[in-house]
Amino acid sequence: MNRREFMKTAGGAAAFAAIPGVATKGATYDLIIRGGRVIDPASRLDGVRDVAIAQGRIAAVGPKIAGGAADEIDARGKLVVPGLIDIHTHAGRSADGPPMLLRDGVTGWIDAGSQGADHVDDIVAIARSSPQPGRVLVNIGRAGILPEGDTMDLARADVAAARAAIERNREFVVGVKARLSANVAGDHDYEVLRRAQEAASAFSLPVMIHMGQTTSSMAKLLPLLKRGDIVTHMFAPPPNSIVGDDGRILPAVLDARRRGVWFDVGNGVAGHMRWDTVETIMKARFWPDTISTDWNTMSRTTGVVDMPNCLSKLLNYGMSVPQVIACGTSNAARVFPVFKGRGTLKAGAPADVAILELRDGAFEFLDNYTNKITGRQRLFPSETILAGRRLSLVRLVLLPGDRPNPHQSY
Ligand SMILES: [Zn+2]
Repeated sequence: MNRREFMKTAGGAAAFAAIPGVATKGATYDLIIRGGRVIDPASRLDGVRDVAIAQGRIAAVGPKIAGGAADEIDARGKLVVPGLIDIHTHAGRSADGPPMLLRDGVTGWIDAGSQGADHVDDIVAIARSSPQPGRVLVNIGRAGILPEGDTMDLARADVAAARAAIERNREFVVGVKARLSANVAGDHDYEVLRRAQEAASAFSLPVMIHMGQTTSSMAKLLPLLKRGDIVTHMFAPPPNSIVGDDGRILPAVLDARRRGVWFDVGNGVAGHMRWDTVETIMKARFWPDTISTDWNTMSRTTGVVDMPNCLSKLLNYGMSVPQVIACGTSNAARVFPVFKGRGTLKAGAPADVAILELRDGAFEFLDNYTNKITGRQRLFPSETILAGRRLSLVRLVLLPGDRPNPHQSY
């Protein structure tokens, strides 16, 4: 559909008032977000604009959009950005996870290996009922995350079981997770990753590795990664971080990026991020492709807090506001096909929007080692629009047959 056809369809449908309570007679649009600082990295846009929404999609972005809407939001003084996409969460562990994330502006999530083959169907069930699109990485350790280490017993890295789990959940399992730290995989990290690739290769799916404090060096592990795979916890301190003692990014890391491996933040709480390592890596100009949280329902009480907070942390290391927004929207949308066409406010895209506040002040940011830095700016979630509906309306009026279909691919 080209833009004119889309506008015709959207306008026609709105005038017809096909959706009670959303489209109002005579209104051109369902919703207009007025006067915010619109940042849409995919359009290279950063400026004060209006955003008009009709029939669950972005209808127009421009200065002072004419025509009425059934509802308007005054976003003056706020940021209007694409709905955030968090590619490393544990949202699938609880039915409360996805709606909590929605309040933070997160309109797409990946559960990164909370469960392995034995119980991944539980995570898939949460993804199926999630209001926003959610997908799942199956842990190569068949029992999922274990306190004693997912694959400390190498027999748990069961390729046949992982393949069967993917096979029965083709629509929802979009990759394989391999947690490789020594306290998770012992000295089997290389073999665990090899098996993860073996499971994923049958379906041409990516593998996400959890790096940091591994037995094997990155120089040994990274050659096992193919284009489209993801390295999470890229700021993990030594042993075996992505940067050498000389402050230079390891050649194997540069090679991996060159052949299309993504590098992701995965903030988390233990062992994944230390400010001095962050500083060295950022100074070497090796910046993240994506910024993710490693979120769970307890994150409000840890250094994660929420995704806008995790994005804000990198503002202290040379990245601009549009750059961190790109890491949580357009870049993240490129990693998994389920998010194709999302992470942008281009006309015709699904109308998933995060309205954020960028506040000035003195804000403390935590790494995973109780070290604090103080920053001058922080992003806060303000309001979320999912498939064209304001979060408050989504929560109040959503009926079973009335649910936006999050699993439709665009
Ligand atoms: Zn994680």
